[in-house]
Amino acid sequence: MGIFEWFKAYNDNIKQVENKLVKDGNDIIEIYHKNKALEEEIQLRTKELKQANQTLLTLENVWDMMNSSKPLSSVLEAIVQSLQDEFGYVYSCILQKQKDEDGDFFAYKTFLHNEFTEQIDNFLDEPFYSKKILINPAGELSHIINGTKGSRIYKFENIIEEVFPGITPSAVQDIKKLTKTKCFIARPIYSAKELYGSLMVFSPRPEPKENELNFLNIFGRQIELAITISNLFDTVKKQAVTDALTGLFNRRFYEDAISREASRALRLKQPFTLISLDLDHLKQINDTYGHTTGDKAIVAISKAISDNARSIDIPSRVGGEEFSIILPGIDAAGGMIAAERLRKTIEETYVEGPEHVTASIGVATFIEHTADIDELIEMADRATYYAKHNGRNQVKLAQSTSEISWQEIAVEAFVEILEKHRIPFDEEIAKKLTTKLKSKNTKAGSTSTKDILFKVADTIYSFGKVHYQKGTMQDKLNLATSIAKKLSLSKSEVDKLKVAILLYDIGTMALPQELLNKKGELTEEERNLITTHPVIAAQEILKPISTISDIIPIIEQHHENWDGTGYPFNLKGEDIPVTSQIILIVDSFYAMLSERPYRKALSPSEAIEEIKKSEGTKYSKELTSAFIDTVREEGLYDLY
Ligand code: GH3
Ligand code: MG
Repeated sequence: MGIFEWFKAYNDNIKQVENKLVKDGNDIIEIYHKNKALEEEIQLRTKELKQANQTLLTLENVWDMMNSSKPLSSVLEAIVQSLQDEFGYVYSCILQKQKDEDGDFFAYKTFLHNEFTEQIDNFLDEPFYSKKILINPAGELSHIINGTKGSRIYKFENIIEEVFPGITPSAVQDIKKLTKTKCFIARPIYSAKELYGSLMVFSPRPEPKENELNFLNIFGRQIELAITISNLFDTVKKQAVTDALTGLFNRRFYEDAISREASRALRLKQPFTLISLDLDHLKQINDTYGHTTGDKAIVAISKAISDNARSIDIPSRVGGEEFSIILPGIDAAGGMIAAERLRKTIEETYVEGPEHVTASIGVATFIEHTADIDELIEMADRATYYAKHNGRNQVKLAQSTSEISWQEIAVEAFVEILEKHRIPFDEEIAKKLTTKLKSKNTKAGSTSTKDILFKVADTIYSFGKVHYQKGTMQDKLNLATSIAKKLSLSKSEVDKLKVAILLYDIGTMALPQELLNKKGELTEEERNLITTHPVIAAQEILKPISTISDIIPIIEQHHENWDGTGYPFNLKGEDIPVTSQIILIVDSFYAMLSERPYRKALSPSEAIEEIKKSEGTKYSKELTSAFIDTVREEGLYDLY
């Protein structure tokens, strides 16, 4: 090869290498760019995934909550709170469509508090969520919720006046500036194909983010699901007629059945007998052998009851260890025979652990003893009580005069308080009230006795406490009794509670009038006097009255808190009688509704909120839920 050829070949070689290098370089750059794009893609996807995960996690929490036994409103509040946290909303809430004599309106179903609610409430005379939102069919809100104008996203200022009724035009401007809300989004909520209400969010962004509306929709569906589940649960609860542990009929069924039997008995002119049965010393069995053995005793007794019953009898478990059996067509003599046979069967039944258990039984017969159902139940219970106190393991027939009713106990207590001047009270009025109380036929179940009793109690208290405004004695008693029933308290416990409710506040009568009417802040010493003195005074007033000796401890302990921070004994948890806890919650509720010289009255919603705050500290969780359920069911939110 000549030098020229060699050089050419050499040159070609270099070119080739050069070309390859350029190509490789291009490849590397391309790979680099590809990698970069891929990395960005991965980052984006990771972010999206994280967000989706977060939302899923929130939804998972929501789902868990829906499976718990929490009341619907708590579940809805939790969902709304999750949503608010998730999207950084200024506020979110659920409105529920309701109806009253004035027509349709929306009411707030959730009550979350934050800076936003505080800011709005500053412009109103009462919290906005306690107000009714009247639905103006031509108003923006109606369009938004019904989606009649297409969009469910609105400028905040367009709906301020509608969602916060009572707000002044100048406040609207202030609120616009004050809150960070830019837009308002509503998602209608349907239940059983009907408009239930609306999920509303107040967003700090003028437009919803991508996907935000999708997620709002998912949350909306969760809310609908929670409502459906809650409704289903209520229906199932209503439909259930048997008790899970024993298979006997439950209290609800029994209550309906006894009314049906009474009508039939009147129609056919046939008697029916009611047997009321209470296990003896179950507490002791629980304490000695454990709760499971206690349950086994209950099951064994239930079997004895079922085995003894005819097919037309209605055996029910009406409380933890209390049973009732309705015997259609059976008179008192027949009822006594059946009851005695049952007593014997129970006594002879083998129960693992204690080997044998016994029961105290009361018998009362419809028409023969009374033609009033409530009175019949009371008489059978009293006969049971009598059997208990006469030595247990025996049957007693109802006797109208054998024991006294709670009304009689209360009447006696008031008569003694008034007659013996146990409270400083005007002599003339005391005499009048005493005559009123004594003049009444105090037979058990008599409605007029109850009325007189409530009137007298209200009169007495109204003299002692000028600030005593909201809630009559009857209101308090109704609330307390409903809570007690929710907590499945026995009849005798409920009766004690009734007397205790009438008397627990009597110590306040001994406080100096000036102190009760004092305006402005109380001193530490005065506050102490107000709290501790009535307890001591109540003891002094009530102790000498022998008929209420088992009610005094209930009254004494109604300032004890669940977490042990109360007085006078710093009792804690289960050591406090449930009846005392019920009085505490009822008293606190009505006290908050009443104006005091040193503070304004709270609205029912606010008072209920306050009570919720003390769940687990002042009151047990169980009591708080029973209370909240009761005030909801009895419509106390809208009472005042
Ligand atoms: P008495 O003879 O006076 O009826 O005494 P007692 O211990 O049976 O009655 P008391 O009313 O003092 O207490 C009732 C007890 O029954 C307390 C409660 O723990 C227990 N109890 C109520 N329901 C159940 C239940 O479903 N299972 C178990 N194991 N115990 C229950
Ligand atoms: Mg018992």
